[in-house]
Amino acid sequence: MSEARQPGLFDDQPDLSPWEIEAANDQLIAEVVFNRPLDTVYRYIVPDEFRELIQPGQRVRVPFGRGNSSTLGFCVRTHVGGTPGKRLKSLAEICDREPLLSQSMLDLTEWIAGRYLSGWGQVLESVIPAGVKRQAGTREIVFYRAADSLPDIDTLKLPSKQHAVLNLLLQSDDPMRVDELTAAAGCGVSPIDSLKKKNFIIPERRRVSTHSIGGEIATRQEDLKLNSEQSAALQEILKVLRESRHETLLLHGVTGSGKTEVYIQAIREVISYGRQAIVLVPEISLTPQTIRRFRARFDSVAVLHSHLSDSDRHWHWQQIASGDVQVVVGARSAVFAPVPHLGLIVIDEEHETTFKQQSVPRYHAREVARERARRDNIPLILGTATPTLETLKRTMDGEDRRIVLKERVEQRPLPPVSIVDIRNDPFIQRRHSLGRAMTNAIQVALKAGGQGILFLNLRGYSPVLWCGKCKGVTCPDCDVSLTWHKDRSRLVCHSCDFEMESPERCPTCHQPGLRLIGTGTQRLEAEVINKFPAARIARMDSDSMRKPGSHDEVLERFREHEIDLLLGTQMIAKGLDFPNVTLVGVIDADTLLYQPDLRAGERTFHLISQVAGRTGRGDKQGRVLVQTLNPDEPIIQFAAHHDFDGFAKYELKQRKVMQAPPFQSMARVILRALDERIVQAESQRICQLLRERIQAGNRPIRVLGPAPAPILRLRKYFRYHFQLTSPEQQQIEEVWREFVPTMKLAAEVDMVIDMDPVDLR
Ligand code: ADP
Ligand code: ZN
Repeated sequence: MSEARQPGLFDDQPDLSPWEIEAANDQLIAEVVFNRPLDTVYRYIVPDEFRELIQPGQRVRVPFGRGNSSTLGFCVRTHVGGTPGKRLKSLAEICDREPLLSQSMLDLTEWIAGRYLSGWGQVLESVIPAGVKRQAGTREIVFYRAADSLPDIDTLKLPSKQHAVLNLLLQSDDPMRVDELTAAAGCGVSPIDSLKKKNFIIPERRRVSTHSIGGEIATRQEDLKLNSEQSAALQEILKVLRESRHETLLLHGVTGSGKTEVYIQAIREVISYGRQAIVLVPEISLTPQTIRRFRARFDSVAVLHSHLSDSDRHWHWQQIASGDVQVVVGARSAVFAPVPHLGLIVIDEEHETTFKQQSVPRYHAREVARERARRDNIPLILGTATPTLETLKRTMDGEDRRIVLKERVEQRPLPPVSIVDIRNDPFIQRRHSLGRAMTNAIQVALKAGGQGILFLNLRGYSPVLWCGKCKGVTCPDCDVSLTWHKDRSRLVCHSCDFEMESPERCPTCHQPGLRLIGTGTQRLEAEVINKFPAARIARMDSDSMRKPGSHDEVLERFREHEIDLLLGTQMIAKGLDFPNVTLVGVIDADTLLYQPDLRAGERTFHLISQVAGRTGRGDKQGRVLVQTLNPDEPIIQFAAHHDFDGFAKYELKQRKVMQAPPFQSMARVILRALDERIVQAESQRICQLLRERIQAGNRPIRVLGPAPAPILRLRKYFRYHFQLTSPEQQQIEEVWREFVPTMKLAAEVDMVIDMDPVDLR
């Protein structure tokens, strides 16, 4: 977390003699950036031997800093001409044979660095997959095999690495890729090169059929016949496409209104132009079902998810760059997919917070997509049943356009949602999680052969181990109470990795008689098993879904109706489309609502709407029960009535009063240190200086804070934060760039800035 620390930039250079200046004038200069925060662009002389080889987008090795230590950087531009008065160092090595990304992607990364206040080199480091960096230069996929009729390997007296490589190939039935070889032999590429020169191994260029990116080949499906709302939406999109211009279109369609079908048919048009499309979905929605939907319609679909190995990622990257892939479907970082002729970007579930990256560079995929689409003159489609207020406001201001799908396909009704007041529920009073109405509803649904989804956004068995005398058992490193996980018999901190055995007595005041308070998914599961012994039950949360593929497997079983009741966290709330689900239960609508977060209300609304949308998607009617202790809470009422517009009006009014997003841009600055006094004093000093600078520059920026962060202590560090808000995002950007080099942050303190934060803890 030391992004904001400023390096000592240029070393002062002695004046040059006239002849040196003369010679400098036709020199080729490479502009280089490093993986460092808020850094400048550095210039290096390109020696003649590299003159024909250097290209922007390649990595280079250069001497850097006073010690001239050899440092890896990215060449971002080249130009001819010297820099009078500066004696430049020379570039030492070019690391890639080909640029790792195109000029337009380079430009986009520069924009991201500016917009999200990070170093350009940091953005490049994060955008280019590790596998691509490691194996850059291998454009075609080359496979190696051992040469025929080699003498016995031990008689060749090879150096050990070469021996290892050749041995692998001799033992392998199939030719191997370079990356497989280097990984298996634990070596770099040079032993492979040497063996090739000696003709001991033979390269084979292979063209692998596009189906190898396609994975399993899905059964082909015809496009569906769109209903009138869908067709109208499609026509709007096609119009923008045909006019080759950029516009962001918010496809605001209730759950089950057939948004995906609209994307698919828009993509069909894009492909007919010989162009490609990128579809971003939340990682959690990258289920076989989603993937199948695209594979059933297009010949060549690449899926980018976080479980890809480095070499698979590299392989996909190359296939995409070659133009062989028609549609790229992936999570957040797929917005950087190097498609050569992008025709359309779609972001499904636009409201999902996972589109924001939580580490440097803290970009939001929606904003990057918008910028990429703007530069390429193509449409961006944002699809959701519950737009973020940021997106909604842009449509209200006429910057983006909203297209509404009011109806579910085939006139299916939205499910009726009942708010269940559990304040006097006899079961809840006996500390059950399922109240009387919920219990009955589950019984009825099961009896009729339907399936149910029960949503509780808390994993573990019980979130609090309560001591009657003091506050209970908290994490030694964080200000967070420890959650009891019954399956592992451990107390776990959900903010860091800390775990411990459950103590007999309170560790603080040494009193016996600790009590478990509150319900997580594990406790809910125990209750459901107990109450419905005949039902087949599965729990889905990040604890039960640790094994890769288990998420997909449970969903498949649920689809096949091998499971009657699926209970779990957010994981089950998103984008699932199961026709036989007739009951959705929200076990606790309140915990989300009372988080100390600007968007707590908005998130509660999203979640209830999304979970509710999982039912009534087939021929059978569905219903939704929402248990709450606050039945009159407007947010819950709006969600129950499927009243997005009412919710938006209500929430926007409050945001306006608070001068909060979406009316103002916001940046959050977090400082942390092991010593609370130091971080507190430093936060105050920084805020004071910043306020002075803002005042001096007469800028319309408010500074709110500093204050202890809602989680004051996290992983041993004390955290303070403050916020900058302004009607103009640019103002924050400018003042921060001016300010950071002058502030001289104390060495014990780390600082980060998060532009448009979505996480305010
Ligand atoms: P959304 O993304 O808006 O929630 P989906 O695209 O998942 O909705 O569509 C919901 C279901 O309706 C899917 O099973 C889909 O195949 C089906 N569907 C979509 N459009 C049509 C249509 N025009 N006619 C019949 N079924 C449709
Ligand atoms: Zn912790």
